[in-house]
Amino acid sequence: MSDPALETLQNVFGYDAFRGDQRAIIEQVVSGGDALVLMPTGGGKSLCYQIPALIRPGTGIVISPLIALMQDQVDALTELGVRAAYLNSTQEWSQTREVERAFLAGELDLLYVAPERLMTDRCLDLLARGRIALFAIDEAHCVSQWGHDFRPEYLKLSYLVERWPDVPRIALTATATAETRHEIAERLSLHHAEQFVSSFDRPNICYRIVEKNDVRRQLMALIRDEHEGDSGIVYCLSRARVEDTAAYLVREGVNALPYHAGLSAEVRAQNQSRFLREEGVVMVATIAFGMGVNKPDVRFVAHIDLPKSIEGYYQETGRAGRDGEPATAWLAYGLQDVVQLHRMISDSQAEENHRRTQGRQLDSMLGLCETVSCRRQSLLAYFGESIHNCQNCDTCMTPPESWDGTVAAQKLLSAVYRLWRERGQRFGAGHLIDILRGKETDRVKEYGHQSLSVFGVGVAINDQGWRSVLRQLLALNVLAVDTQGYGTLGLTEKARPVLKGEQQLMFRRETTIASKSTRSSKAVTQVPPEAQPLFQALREWRSAVAKEHEVPAFIIFNDATLRQIAIEQPQDLDDLRCISGIGVRKLKAYGDDLLACVANVAASSVE
Ligand code: ADP
Repeated sequence: MSDPALETLQNVFGYDAFRGDQRAIIEQVVSGGDALVLMPTGGGKSLCYQIPALIRPGTGIVISPLIALMQDQVDALTELGVRAAYLNSTQEWSQTREVERAFLAGELDLLYVAPERLMTDRCLDLLARGRIALFAIDEAHCVSQWGHDFRPEYLKLSYLVERWPDVPRIALTATATAETRHEIAERLSLHHAEQFVSSFDRPNICYRIVEKNDVRRQLMALIRDEHEGDSGIVYCLSRARVEDTAAYLVREGVNALPYHAGLSAEVRAQNQSRFLREEGVVMVATIAFGMGVNKPDVRFVAHIDLPKSIEGYYQETGRAGRDGEPATAWLAYGLQDVVQLHRMISDSQAEENHRRTQGRQLDSMLGLCETVSCRRQSLLAYFGESIHNCQNCDTCMTPPESWDGTVAAQKLLSAVYRLWRERGQRFGAGHLIDILRGKETDRVKEYGHQSLSVFGVGVAINDQGWRSVLRQLLALNVLAVDTQGYGTLGLTEKARPVLKGEQQLMFRRETTIASKSTRSSKAVTQVPPEAQPLFQALREWRSAVAKEHEVPAFIIFNDATLRQIAIEQPQDLDDLRCISGIGVRKLKAYGDDLLACVANVAASSVE
């Protein structure tokens, strides 16, 4: 029986079988229905609209906010023999004309368009004169006004259903909360769309959260000990920090580049292109970098500042290991981060309820950092999913000890209360800890705080220990950053039962475990030693071809495909056809070259 979806998957893309919901989604769209797809990064969203666009008559129109990446998307499809093009503001007039002509002549399977371009009269008229297979709205969470990727032009996309009520629409995102999902359905008028919500688990990513002390040194240790020569992304909160950190890494011999909105468009495009094309580049960036960066072999994502929400954090860490190979998500955070983010929220000009939402998001993020249970469990719980302990996060691999911190908490809360009575003064966490530890600093003496009853009651716990207690009390919402005042600390309602001795508090004990590599994430090490020479030869061949075609290496073949060839040593085109990632077009284009590589390496090993 004919099965066009499976045949397209195998012949064009070279894969054996569908993953997860792919088949159901494809069938829904092929039959003309709408779909709302929530799938984690790396889940395989692109095939969900590319295959229906190939099967249905007409051109699939893909709306994507990522102009800088359209070229790569089109190159990757062209390599597969798919007829794809894009329309955006970077094109010359003559190219635009040619794309428009090809569309009208029915010569395109897929056409990528930026939303602002789509909504112009010229573009809408063009579409009205051609045949449309479907509309795919990629990065659909851009309609969400509360999200960090909000694009006002996305709000206009509901017009598509008015103008083309019979063309199926598929909206896709890797942003997972039910709130965002409802917002997308609402704003894009996808009320009747079938919703496909995949598991958001990314089992190949190892999550680790550490206490920040000397963060640049900690980051360098991570790179040197576990990810030398790997591609990675380091996220920072500010542009200045991006610049400092990138310069530091370069001094330490890492091939690092900066990326933030303050750099010129040209520098940004250049750095992004080097990150995609060269192997082993570390991109140090603000969250301005990354949406849709479809580089499958990013081996680590490091956050050296606390992200503002779990949603953002999960999306950013999701950029690691899209190829399914082991990858690391590493976050370093400290008390200062919490205070700084609270201040940023209270200083912002946003409306009251928006600020409240931001505060809640930050609280959840803190909860994740301070949890004593499985990180993945807490992450997925945020998205409404429940799983067993994952065995691939720091708390599962090295379970933290807990201790009864009730008395310590009472001491700290009393000190906060005493200082709060002197409100109007700005006393930070450092001063509070000095009082608890009985340090007669100038500031302590200036305010006569050595005479407070809490002075010196906490000598048994060191500075680091107190900071940990403080962070956990913030995470539990027993303490709050007093945003009305000067970012100092205040008690919440939840402090009362603790102070009265009615509630016991168990805390996580900080262990200063040196970063140890429990597994190596390098693709290379997963190739058995006897297959290494062929694997290396294949990578060199791939580099040369990618350079010649001016595309990133992974567009030619990904590491997993090369590894399979190196291990199985196919002897003819039929053997090669069975390797995952080799479809009809690539077999024809590269089959002979690949077989020659296999034969050459075999011959030289016999000599
Ligand atoms: P997303 O857009 O959801 O982040 P992609 O569409 O980029 O994910 O897919 C991630 C990777 O998985 C790509 O390299 C893609 O070719 C591959 N992939 C997708 N579907 C399959 C499948 N059914 N079998 C094998 N590989 C697949």
